[in-house]
Formats: sequence, structure tokens, C-alpha cells
Amino acid sequence: MSTDDLNSPEYKDKIPEELQGTVAITTLDRIYNWGRRNSLWPMMFGLACCAIEMICTAAARFDFARFGMEVMRSSPRQADVMIVAGTVTKKMLPQVVRLYNQMADPKYVVAMGACASGGGPFKEGYNVVSGIDKYLPVDVYIPGCPPTPQALIYGLMKLQQKVDKQSIKEVYSNAGKEIPIPVLGPDIMDPRDYEKIREYTLKKAEAEAQAATAAESAQSA
Ligand code: SF4
Repeated sequence: MSTDDLNSPEYKDKIPEELQGTVAITTLDRIYNWGRRNSLWPMMFGLACCAIEMICTAAARFDFARFGMEVMRSSPRQADVMIVAGTVTKKMLPQVVRLYNQMADPKYVVAMGACASGGGPFKEGYNVVSGIDKYLPVDVYIPGCPPTPQALIYGLMKLQQKVDKQSIKEVYSNAGKEIPIPVLGPDIMDPRDYEKIREYTLKKAEAEAQAATAAESAQSA
């Protein structure tokens, strides 16, 4: 790392010339983010065809080891980036959310490709979720079907820029907060919506009961 990367720009000129190159004046945020942005560890999992491009990006030609990301972890507990690479089916969704919950804080989500970003060619399909952002907080969206390895690298660089702007004070604000695991059913439900669904169902049942009573009294009259 060069001292230029580490120095806070406002202090750079305050370092005597003979010490430049050996002494750096920086902030805790800057050095902390420098460490994190150069050691983002993606979780090793893929959901569909986009995963093939993700694998290419890790291989020799594109080589995202250049960004310190080569350590793709098979355990979510040792990963801090989830690259959602592929179609998210309703059957897979509970597992994807569970894996996210098990990842180390602070953690990030990259929606790679049209399917992960919004359902892609299968949008509104009976078995497909229309975008992982309905359930997980997505940090970077990468368009394409599939996105090229270059596009994935660009997205990961955008993620690094996001990390650069964060502060150690805020970065752990959501630490330990688990996202409710969606329930796999005839159609998937998000437990955060239970109250809304309950209210809607009760109102509907009440309206139906009132309509039935009105029809009965109309018949008997
Ligand atoms: S976006 Fe295209 S390439 Fe990627 S998983 Fe969906 S269908 Fe496959």
C-alpha cells in the first residue's frame, strides 16, 4: 500500500518532506475501511447461470484475487459478501436468507444479473422471486443476463467505493439483527408482512360476512 492511499488528504501536506513515504497521518475510519475493502470475502455459492460468470471472474483470466477477494468461503460465518448469482426460486429463498443471517457483520449483498435484481426473464414466474431486494438489503445491482466478468468486477469496485465511505461508528448499527426467514408455502410469505396479511384477511372476512347477511335479509324480505 502506498502512503498516499493511507494518508487523509487534509493532512498530507502537513507531513515534512523527509518523512513522506515513511509516516502517514490518517483516520481510524480510513485505515479500517482500507483493511475491509481489500479483504472482502465472498461466500462460495451460486444459484444459476450467472454463477458460471462469477466462477470465471475468480479464475486466472479475470482474477478477482487482485482485489483481495480470492478467499471465497464455503462457510457463511467466514464471509462478508453475498454475491447472489442467479435466479432466486421460492424454494431456495429461505436458505438464501438463512445464509445471509449467518454471515459475519458488517456484510454486503451484490445482486448479480437480471434474475437476482428483479426476476429477469422469469419475472412473475410461479416459482421465482422478483428480486432478492424484496428480502435482503442489496448494496450493488449488476445488470445483464448474464453480466460479464468485467461487469461483476466493476460492481465489486463500486462496493469497495461504498465501503470507503462508511464509518466505523455506523457500520455495525445493524449487527446481529436477523432477517425473518420467509416461509415456503403455496406462495412465499415474508413474516414481516404477517400483521398486514392478518388485517387484510380479517377485513375481507368481515366484508364477506356482511355481504352474506345483506343477501339473506334481501331474500327473506
Ligand atoms: S440473469 Fe440470465 S444468466 Fe443470470 S441467472 Fe438469470 S437467466 Fe441466467
